[in-house]
This record gives sequence, structure tokens and C-alpha cells, in this order.
Amino acid sequence: MSNDLSNVDVAVVGGGIIGCAVALAARRRGLSVAVLERGRICGEASSAAGGLICAQYDADHDTPLVRLRIDGRDAFPEFALLLEELTGLSVGYSAGPTLGLARTDEQRTQLLARVAWQRKAGLDAEFLEPDEARRREPLLPPDLTAAACYPDGQVDTQRWAPIIHRALLAAGVHVHEGTDVTAVAAGPNPCVVYPSDAAADLKRVDRGGGRMIK
Ligand SMILES: Cc1cc2nc3c(=O)[nH]c(=O)nc-3n(C[C@H](O)[C@H](O)[C@H](O)COP(=O)(O)OP(=O)(O)OC[C@H]3O[C@@H](n4cnc5c(N)ncnc54)[C@H](O)[C@@H]3O)c2cc1C
Repeated sequence: MSNDLSNVDVAVVGGGIIGCAVALAARRRGLSVAVLERGRICGEASSAAGGLICAQYDADHDTPLVRLRIDGRDAFPEFALLLEELTGLSVGYSAGPTLGLARTDEQRTQLLARVAWQRKAGLDAEFLEPDEARRREPLLPPDLTAAACYPDGQVDTQRWAPIIHRALLAAGVHVHEGTDVTAVAAGPNPCVVYPSDAAADLKRVDRGGGRMIK
């Protein structure tokens, strides 16, 4: 890769789903963006994931993390649409719903309390008796004691890596795969990034311009 990042406003280290989403969001705000990824775009946890976009399945209390998960889930349709607009390809997003299951009396009590809390918090959640749950999903286990229905979705992580890569390029993000970043230094510019291939014989860093010079 070229180590010259002088024209880049934002350098994102790590091209998993989080880094790529950040890169696309920054690009949409008119910034020039580079993603530096040591392997392949979405080649690590982001492709191993099951793709469940579960914000509510274990949400019992109002915490910042729960709110963040709900906001993330609610933003997902727009993100999936953006990827589709940029590439013409679908990441297999489905809006749900998702069922949470109880298989003991204790779990049933827990689920009942969870649904009650979520409804009180203004979230969409439904408590289901086993017969109703089986009517909706006949393959549920016979020892079911209750179920809860949440508007949590799913995405096909088996297919999204090349789509996200293509979306980054279509949006004008500079993608550098095979680039292991070993150090980041703050400077007058947002950041100066040292890929490992440059770090060994780095002679000078022009922090004013945010440039890296070997
Ligand atoms: C088996 C499994 C199943 C999962 N199932 C789900 C699920 O159903 N639902 C769900 O919401 N979450 C699930 N997750 C969690 C989900 O995969 C992660 O929360 C998500 O992928 C994190 O995204 P990320 O971009 O932060 O991390 P990653 O996808 O790991 O991306 C980080 C990237 O940074 C790169 N990187 C790291 N260091 C450097 C460096 N120094 N220089 C350059 N690049 C670097 C890595 O190569 C990697 O590509 C699952 C995880 C696993 C492992």
C-alpha cells in the first residue's frame, strides 16, 4: 500500500463490521476515509458471527449497553439498505421477530419479568404461552414452559464480507487489506498511522500533514 495518508481525514484501524460501519458513516459525512485491515475485510469475528441482531433477548434493566444495542438494532435496516444501494446486493437482513425460550419454571418466571420490564420501558415484547409459541414455530422443543417474542433481526454473515468490501469501494473509502497497524500516534491531524511494513525503517513522520514517510 501507499503509506501516504496525507489526504485522509479518518484512518480506521480494523476492517471488521464496526470499523467498516464507522468508515461508511464518516464517508457519508463527506470525510475522506481509509480502512487499514491486517487480514481481509470482515474476515475475523464479523464473519464467524451467527448474525443475530439481538438487542432484547436478555434485556432486563435500563442500562447504557441495552440502549446502545437497541439503537444499533433499530439502525440496522438503514445500514442494510445503504449496503444494497451501494452494491446492488443484499446482506440477507431480516427484521425478525426472534423468540426467547424458557424450558424451566424458573426461566419462565424470568421471561415473564423481562417482558413486563421491556413493555413498561416502551419496548415491543410479547409473552407467549407454550401452545401459542408452538403455533408460531412448530419446531420448538416439547419441554417449553414459555417464550417471548422480540423484534430482533438477523443478517447473513456468511455472505456479507465481499458485499461490505464492495460497498466501501463504491462509497470511495480507501481499503488497505494485509496492513497490520502496530502503532498510532495522535498529532495535529486526527491521527498518524504506522503500518508494520513501514514501522521498522521509519525515518521521519511529518505530523503536521499527517503523512508517513519511510
Ligand atoms: C462464533 C461467534 C458467533 C457470534 N455470533 C454473534 C451473533 O449472532 N450476533 C452478534 O451480534 N454478534 C455475534 N458475535 C460477535 C460479533 O462477531 C462481534 O461482536 C463483531 O463481529 C465485532 O466486530 P468488530 O468489527 O469489532 O470485530 P472484528 O470482526 O473482529 O474486526 C476487527 C478487525 O480488526 C482487525 N485488526 C485487529 N488488529 C489490527 C491491527 N493491529 N491492524 C489492522 N487490523 C487489525 C482484525 O483483523 C479484524 O478484521 C459472534 C462472535 C463469534 C466469534
